[in-house]
Amino acid sequence: MSETRLGQATNFDSWKHAYAKRAENLAVSEVRALFSVVSRPEVVSLAGGMPDVSAMDNDLIRTAFDSLMSSRPQYALQYGGGQGDLRLREQIQEIMELEGVHGSVEDLMITTGSQHALELLSDLFLDQGDVVLVESPSYVGAVGIFRHKEAHIEHVFTDADGISPVAVAEAADRLIADGKRVKLLYLVPNFANPSGVTLSESRRDELIKVCAERGILIIEDNPYGQLYFDKQPPRALRAREAEGVVYLGSFSKILSPGLRVGYVLAPPAIREKLVLANESAVLSPATFAQMLISEYLSICDWKAQIASYRNLYREKRDAAFSALEQYLPKVATTRPEGGFFLWLTLPQGLNSKEMLPLAVTELVAYTPGTAFFGDGRGKENIRVCFSHPTSERVKIGIQRLSNVINRQIDLIDTFGVQQ
Ligand code: PMP
Repeated sequence: MSETRLGQATNFDSWKHAYAKRAENLAVSEVRALFSVVSRPEVVSLAGGMPDVSAMDNDLIRTAFDSLMSSRPQYALQYGGGQGDLRLREQIQEIMELEGVHGSVEDLMITTGSQHALELLSDLFLDQGDVVLVESPSYVGAVGIFRHKEAHIEHVFTDADGISPVAVAEAADRLIADGKRVKLLYLVPNFANPSGVTLSESRRDELIKVCAERGILIIEDNPYGQLYFDKQPPRALRAREAEGVVYLGSFSKILSPGLRVGYVLAPPAIREKLVLANESAVLSPATFAQMLISEYLSICDWKAQIASYRNLYREKRDAAFSALEQYLPKVATTRPEGGFFLWLTLPQGLNSKEMLPLAVTELVAYTPGTAFFGDGRGKENIRVCFSHPTSERVKIGIQRLSNVINRQIDLIDTFGVQQ
């Protein structure tokens, strides 16, 4: 039997009549559609948002593994509780404190990556047509979930200081006046995926106020906060307001996405419902992965490991900046101070989605900006992920990208249209 490749359309489906209506919203994401192409070694992929796990010291993981298997295998190989391992939750308290977040272990729950926390929260809060306010652009994985729940996704004005609280208030008031239920504000405040932008200090307090006045719950998704290059981002929103903010964290970017462990800190009533939803979905999050991480955190110098990631990703960001300056001076870019991404704005008339097949023939891949909007915007944007290739490959990738972009600019200048 042949397996359907990711991104390949399935032509015939004899079960079309049986799907739930919401399954219509399960489209192949533009990021996933690229996977089969970009995994070819000759292609420099600036597409998928993957950490550079080759920089992880495998001996540390092996030491944690051996220690776990010799001390508590009968627990590690068994089902666990729906809320997650208690010792790991205690250790997560320490990690969250680095962002100024103080939360009790009772209000923490472990999830199967923070993607799963987003799925559980969306299921808990969103009926068809309910409004989720998001950044412009927003994280593709969240947009996909909100779409699947048949929510109304409202992109709100965002600039170099993050999402605008004034624009959030305006959008919420307009939609409420239209009779809509505005339920959630979802944001990635630090080194956002895909823009790389960080929400400013003053906007954090303003956003909390605007949302509290309108009964809008904030979902603060923070997988990149510890991957700052020079200075730490402002204190988390959850550090300022406990009742109105649900806080998400993950081990995917600071340790390994393969372990699939994330966490959610929520006000007690929400957390109670989340635990029931987690049990219903997965019985218990993966015990082995949780205990391996817990062992790693207790016997290894994880803070030094994160510090080494900061240096590594800073170097790659700098490589991307210097290549952009050299090869693409006409393309505007955000200036991320941490994380994995930068967001390019192409000269007028260029369409990043239409240009992608040409880029792949030049052996470079990226994610078109349209993936990060639920409303078709983003044609003139490109997300560049600099975290996974080596610095040298990042530079080569941007040079190849410049060949494609400059050729399109020439065509537009000469014929008035893109190829
Ligand atoms: N939120 C954001 C902003 C992300 O970039 C990602 C991963 N790309 C996730 C959530 C999901 O991460 P995970 O499920 O691996 O924790």
